[in-house]
Amino acid sequence: MTINGYTRTCGLIGNPVEHTMSPAIHNTLAEALSENLVYVPFHVPDGKLREAVEGAFALNLLGCNVTVPYKSQVIPFLKEIDPLAEKIGAVNTLVRVQDGFKGYNTDMPGLLQAMREDGVRLEGEKVLILGAGGAARAVAMLLSEQGASQIIILNRTVEKAKELAREVNAASGRQLARAMALADYPFLPGGEKYLAVQTTNLGMFPRVEEAVIEDRTFYEKIHTGYDLIFNPSRTKFVSLVEESGGRAFNGLKMLLYQGVIAYELWTGAKVGVELAEKAYRQMRSAMGPEA
Ligand code: NAP
Repeated sequence: MTINGYTRTCGLIGNPVEHTMSPAIHNTLAEALSENLVYVPFHVPDGKLREAVEGAFALNLLGCNVTVPYKSQVIPFLKEIDPLAEKIGAVNTLVRVQDGFKGYNTDMPGLLQAMREDGVRLEGEKVLILGAGGAARAVAMLLSEQGASQIIILNRTVEKAKELAREVNAASGRQLARAMALADYPFLPGGEKYLAVQTTNLGMFPRVEEAVIEDRTFYEKIHTGYDLIFNPSRTKFVSLVEESGGRAFNGLKMLLYQGVIAYELWTGAKVGVELAEKAYRQMRSAMGPEA
């Protein structure tokens, strides 16, 4: 890659950003598409988000990704917001417009693309969402749009699950979602098999020995488990689902496709399947032999 006076910059705003895989995605795409573009991480300390967004615009950045803990906090500093991101209440991609940045959410379409590739269908499915944070909101809206038949949101803080269920029901216009305290999982209706989407932080590197529910009898109710965590690639949740005979996936493909969709928004390029696979291989090698 040659950096010269025409090089455009994109980056990641977050705290922390040190373990990000996003440079592997975007710099691979830029190089393969011969775009004069470089993608770098920006560690933005607590209380400096406004300055970071305004500074990014002043420095002529083409776009940014936004990660933990700023996906909702960034919204007041945007000039425009895409309706999907507004509905989800979280922005992970900033695209340069006339006077500032427009916010998008590519996590949700990225997850949909990843699930399609993994052969996970949502229409008519009974789904458990474990967690009720920012990622769970995007998952819940996706399930509602894609015709899930029932959503049960289990969260440690049950009020947050109730609030999310209320929002999903209001957005979908039907009684689609309900909330449960995480500890009440033994009271899930018997005789059912669910798709479970794991959206909590539990099991992330370095606390790889943890899972949000450790009890093996829970996993007998799961036909498919989808963990949004991608590091480690084989989380305890993934192991528990597979050991009970279910199919399980991690969040690496979701990460890939949220990045691919962001790249397409910034550059107008169309990323084909082969190139997406190349970026995926690059991410896996950046993660080391474990991936
Ligand atoms: P968040 O808003 O902070 O939500 C965290 C969730 O985890 C909350 O529901 C929280 O419950 C729960 N939780 C945390 N510690 C817990 C504990 N000890 N016991 C039980 N529950 C606990 O985070 P987020 O933005 O939704 O991200 C969640 C995960 O999704 C992260 O691991 C992130 O890496 C992953 N993610 C992956 C992708 C991807 O591209 N693959 C994209 C986005 C996010 P309370 O409400 O009770 O605190």
